[in-house]
Amino acid sequence: MQPFFESGSLRFSCTGCGKCCETAGEYYVYLTPEEASVIRNHLGLSRAWFRRRYLARLEEGELVLGPGRDERCVFLDQAGRCRVYPVRPLQCRTYPFWPEVAANRRDWQREALRCEGIGHGPVVSRAVIRRAVRQCEEQFD
Ligand code: SF4
Ligand code: SF4
Repeated sequence: MQPFFESGSLRFSCTGCGKCCETAGEYYVYLTPEEASVIRNHLGLSRAWFRRRYLARLEEGELVLGPGRDERCVFLDQAGRCRVYPVRPLQCRTYPFWPEVAANRRDWQREALRCEGIGHGPVVSRAVIRRAVRQCEEQFD
């Protein structure tokens, strides 16, 4: 069956509310060692300090951002802005066009309860959505 984003017109416009950066303990922000390195360089931190302060490993060895306060991303500042926005990981750059969100109407609508940008703004081109979905599949599958 065709994924939802191939048949529907998906509208999205980020308001910058920062809700998707509050994990509420439900998910992690995964990143590759290369992405971690780019973020570390952006912040100008030493390898050891950056690893201790900002990274964690899950039981199976996956690299994730370490926990922040109140189950918010460790890079979300007090004003609700991402401190590493220009170099944020692919997982953040592709949201909400993740395979598990955009492929199914029900999941897309459920995600809209969390993200107020879903269902608003201009229709996003299928090429953009396909690219985001493909990048996620390549990185996470
Ligand atoms: S929850 Fe949605 S609208 Fe809010 S910052 Fe994240 S992507 Fe943007
Ligand atoms: S890295 Fe930035 S965009 Fe990604 S979850 Fe953290 S604060 Fe949000």
